[in-house]
Amino acid sequence: MKTAPPFSFPVSPALATKLAKLGIVRDADLVLHLPLRWEDDTRITPIRDLLPGQAAQVQATVREAHVAYRPRRMLTVTVEDSGGVLGIRFLNFYPSHLKLFQPGVSFRFSGEVRGGFLGLEMVHPRFARADDDTPLPTQLTPVYPTTAGLGQATLRKAVERALTAPIVDTLPADWLAELGLPELETSLRLLHQPPLDCALGELESRRHPAWQRLAFDELLAQQLSLATARRQRTSRSTRPLPARRQLTAAFTHALPFSLTAAQTRAWREISADLAQPHPMRRLLQGDVGSGKTVVAALACLQAIENGFQAAVMAPTEILAEQHYRKLAPPLSALGVRCAWISGSQKKSERAAAWQAIAAGDADLAFGTHALFQEAGSFQRLGVAVVDEQHRFGVGQRLALMQKGAEPHQLMMSATPIPRTLAMSFFADLDVSTIDELPPGRSPVVTKLVSAARRDDVLARVTDACLAGGQAYWVCPLIEESEKLQLQTAQDTYTTLAEQLPDLRIGLVHGRLKPDEKQAVMAAFLAHEVDLLVATTVIEVGVDVPNAALMVIEHAERMGLAQLHQLRGRVGRGSRESVCVLLYESPLSELARVRLKVIFELTDGFEIARRDLLLRGPGELLGHRQSGLPMLRFADLERDVALLEAARDLAQRCLAGHPDIAARHMERWIGIMPTFHMMNGSPCSIPGRAGLPTHSRSRARCAAGSATMVR
Ligand code: ADP
Ligand code: MG
Repeated sequence: MKTAPPFSFPVSPALATKLAKLGIVRDADLVLHLPLRWEDDTRITPIRDLLPGQAAQVQATVREAHVAYRPRRMLTVTVEDSGGVLGIRFLNFYPSHLKLFQPGVSFRFSGEVRGGFLGLEMVHPRFARADDDTPLPTQLTPVYPTTAGLGQATLRKAVERALTAPIVDTLPADWLAELGLPELETSLRLLHQPPLDCALGELESRRHPAWQRLAFDELLAQQLSLATARRQRTSRSTRPLPARRQLTAAFTHALPFSLTAAQTRAWREISADLAQPHPMRRLLQGDVGSGKTVVAALACLQAIENGFQAAVMAPTEILAEQHYRKLAPPLSALGVRCAWISGSQKKSERAAAWQAIAAGDADLAFGTHALFQEAGSFQRLGVAVVDEQHRFGVGQRLALMQKGAEPHQLMMSATPIPRTLAMSFFADLDVSTIDELPPGRSPVVTKLVSAARRDDVLARVTDACLAGGQAYWVCPLIEESEKLQLQTAQDTYTTLAEQLPDLRIGLVHGRLKPDEKQAVMAAFLAHEVDLLVATTVIEVGVDVPNAALMVIEHAERMGLAQLHQLRGRVGRGSRESVCVLLYESPLSELARVRLKVIFELTDGFEIARRDLLLRGPGELLGHRQSGLPMLRFADLERDVALLEAARDLAQRCLAGHPDIAARHMERWIGIMPTFHMMNGSPCSIPGRAGLPTHSRSRARCAAGSATMVR
């Protein structure tokens, strides 16, 4: 079991466990575990010189301590030095604290000074036993992100131990000079132990060259590992599926429209990839309604005309069924045998579908991703289309891949991916972008309406429906509780049914059984329902051109991507489309910014960029589900130039200096292991658990306490 000791100094098993929680399993990880902030404990301020609002350290003796109960339970300690008295308050404390603060015992307290009711005070200062002659630190004190039960002092000592060894730079000095970046060793030592004269502001804003060096190295490691994954993939072989232009040509001829230039471009790229003897990993991105489905169908057809099978997977049953319902008729007309795998099917039906797939009697299979994991295998799977790929976990995608030889993969994302994200997290994929909408779309008019004017909105919905249109009513999102969400949807449905007796109203939500859901959607599409009350299950992919009005209740609770997706459900026909965003006042600052963005912008790429700015990549990518590691030091918006430089250097490294590439990845891979697993590319380097934190959440921690919040 035991391998070489990961640390160069003794680490108890208990400490090792806690360190591992922070992603630290070896010296190199400790060295790269950088402070959140620094504290200046190098000076003592006499109590009489303290000013409210100032951060300071005092050396003082306890005069008295007691637990007070008004206005709430707290520990109150009065301390003094030779020239003054200071109040100390702890709102959270243990009984042991009271024993600690014995009259006459000396401590050092550091914290922010405030003008309290009875004079100056500190609330929850840091404190340590210290006498007048206890030496003061001569450097700024780093405060590290940590985890429960792991104190700063222990962590600090561990980092110091790790720092005693020399730090070998992974990059040659002349490259650094060219890049204008400082040496790694200098940078790391400066960040862990900044000299007293260091500009703290620059350090804290992370614009200091030392931070830039770390951000660059992190980005370079990311680029190197993704580029390596790409190289590995292109060195694996799979069956080429050259364009035969039989089914594909027949399909495009049969379409009631011609492809847009952007669709044609994307299709050419995909078609060329499929003809290669290496597995395709291409991301097809385009704004809502840009027409990705047709392009995906063409990819499937190129596989089928080569005698292979294809699969179309979607994250939800509704979406999978939409694909099936839309594509199966025109494709069947071309002789393609389609199979439908659904959770709501009878067991026997599903078994029959799987049997057809396994026997090669079905050419194209539709279903949710979960279903494809379940059982069965394809006889000759050539192409897998994965819709909304960012919603799938890496593991899920791999599961499909293990069924038979490696198929070509086309991933579709309805959420446009900002350029910097595509360049970083998706660097191992090829990307096709559909950057134009089909002609004849009437732009959606967005209206922001206070919930106080709900009656006007109801009148508008009635008018639109009585004039032959249809509408969506999207219920508020209740993130905390699915049960409440469901309740809200049902209440909304009941209320609207009472208020709008002239309309035929339907309800769809996530808790309906798949066949019930499907029945409601079919009724809406057949215009047997005028107004569809829905939870955000309709967020993706639903396509009912006659629905030109959408009302979103409590729009202030929703994220930008979600609002954009929802709004994309209307504006699909020739009718003038309207999206009414009902909001409840007062708005939080963030909600106000979001509503302003969605009101002013319609371009999905620009909206995605704003979203990235507001939320950071972790949330944008759905980090938890996807297992993507986050960047800890680099900020994609701030560090675009570094990102570009890292991308170029990664190419240069891999082409001519594999030793440098290997050395650099070895240093960083410990904390960015899953890059090798991303996007379905199997990895050769064993992975570890994901990262504890990333730059945004860290910034949040920095504002709070030293304990890391997850
Ligand atoms: P999305 O990119 O959001 O998945 P879809 O593929 O669902 O978009 O397409 C949206 C709608 O646009 C569909 O009704 C589709 O038939 C239609 N469409 C796609 N391509 C074109 C085109 N070139 N011209 C006109 N309509 C198109
Ligand atoms: Mg779609």
